[in-house]
Amino acid sequence: MTAAADVVVLGGGVIGMTAAVTLQQRGARVTVLFADDPADTVSTVAAAVWYPTHTDEDRRVLDWARQTYTELSRQAAGGVPGVVDRPTRMLLRDPYAGPPWWAPACADLVAGSAAPPYTAQLRFTAPTVEMSPYLAWLRQRLTAGGGRLLRRRVRWLADAFDIAPTVVNATGLAAGRLAADPAVYPVRGHLVLVANPGLTVSVRDEDHPAGITYVHPRRHDVVLGGTYQPGVGHTAPDPDTAAAIRRRCVDLVPELADAPVLGERIGLRPARYGGPRVELDPSSQSGRRLVHAYGHGGAGVTLSWGCAAEVADLALNGRAGTTGPRQALTRPTPPQ
Ligand SMILES: Cc1cc2nc3c(=O)[nH]c(=O)nc-3n(C[C@H](O)[C@H](O)[C@H](O)COP(=O)(O)OP(=O)(O)OC[C@H]3O[C@@H](n4cnc5c(N)ncnc54)[C@H](O)[C@@H]3O)c2cc1C
Repeated sequence: MTAAADVVVLGGGVIGMTAAVTLQQRGARVTVLFADDPADTVSTVAAAVWYPTHTDEDRRVLDWARQTYTELSRQAAGGVPGVVDRPTRMLLRDPYAGPPWWAPACADLVAGSAAPPYTAQLRFTAPTVEMSPYLAWLRQRLTAGGGRLLRRRVRWLADAFDIAPTVVNATGLAAGRLAADPAVYPVRGHLVLVANPGLTVSVRDEDHPAGITYVHPRRHDVVLGGTYQPGVGHTAPDPDTAAAIRRRCVDLVPELADAPVLGERIGLRPARYGGPRVELDPSSQSGRRLVHAYGHGGAGVTLSWGCAAEVADLALNGRAGTTGPRQALTRPTPPQ
C-alpha cells in the first residue's frame, strides 16, 4: 500500500471515527483501518447516552466530557442522524452532597427532592446517540471529505507505519495486546431493548442495590440497562440477567410493563486502570508518531469529541494543545 495518508487511525469505533473526522477537519489526509464489521464493535452496542459512567473525578476527563456535551448538543440541534437531547432524571440513594464533579460539563443540572427509597434527584439534559446511524454518518463524513476506510486487522501497531507516518491507536479492548498495556480490562454490559410506549425522559438509578439500572428512550425503542461487570470478558447470552434488568426497569418506570421485548445487546466496555490513555507513545520520534486513544470504559461516547481534539493536537503537533493543564489521572480500585 502506498503512503497516501498523513495519519492512519486504527479502529472504526466511536473513538477512532471521531478522531479521524477531527483530523480531516484540520487538513490531514486520513485512512481508517478497522478489523471488525461496524455492527460488531462495542460502540454499536452502547446505550450511548452522555454520562461519565465509572470515571473518576479528573480535570482532563471533565474537559473531554464538556467538549463532547457541547458538540453533541450542537449536532442534535443540527439534525445529525441519531443524536437527540433528552431530559434526564437521575435518582440518588445517598444523602445529597452537592452537585457532582461532572456538573460543570452539562448545561442545566438542578437538584430536587425525590420520594423514598431515593434521597434526591438530579435533572439535566443529556445528549443521546443511536450508534448505528451515527457511526454510518461519521463514516460517510470521512469518505465525503476524501478519507479512506479499509477493513484490515493489523497484527502489530508498527505495521500501520507502512500507510502513514502518524498512527492513532484507537483499538479499544484490543489495545491491551497491541500496546502491551496490562491496565486494559473488559467490563461486560448487558442491555434489553423494548418497544417505546411513548417515553421521552431518561431515568437512571445508578446505585440500585441489585445493579446499575437505567431507562433510555430512543425514537423507536427503549434501552433498558444494565450490568457493569469488571473483568468479565465474554458476551454469551444470559436470560436470567435480561429478565432481572427488565424487572428493575419496570419498577423504575411502570409504563414499560407491557412493552414487547425487541432484543438484547451485550458488549465489553474497554476499561483501563488509571483512566483513558490519550497520549503520545514514548517511542515516537521525528518522522514517526504513535498516539494512543483507548481505555474509555463506559464513557467512550461521552468523551469522544473532547478526546478527538486532543488526539488531533498530539498527532499533528506532537503535543496536547486545547485541554488545559494536565493532572494526574486518579486510579480506580481494581476489581476483586
Ligand atoms: C452495554 C454498554 C453500554 C454503554 N453505554 C454507554 C453510554 O451510555 N455512554 C457512553 O459514553 N458509553 C457507553 N458505553 C461505552 C462505549 O461503548 C465505549 O466506551 C466505546 O464504544 C469505546 O469505543 P472505541 O472506539 O474505543 O472501541 P470499539 O468500539 O471497540 O472500537 C474498536 C475498533 O478497533 C478495531 N480494531 C481492534 N483491533 C484491531 C486491529 N488489530 N486492527 C485494526 N483495527 C482493530 C475494531 O475493529 C473496532 O473498529 C457502553 C458500552 C456498553 C458495552
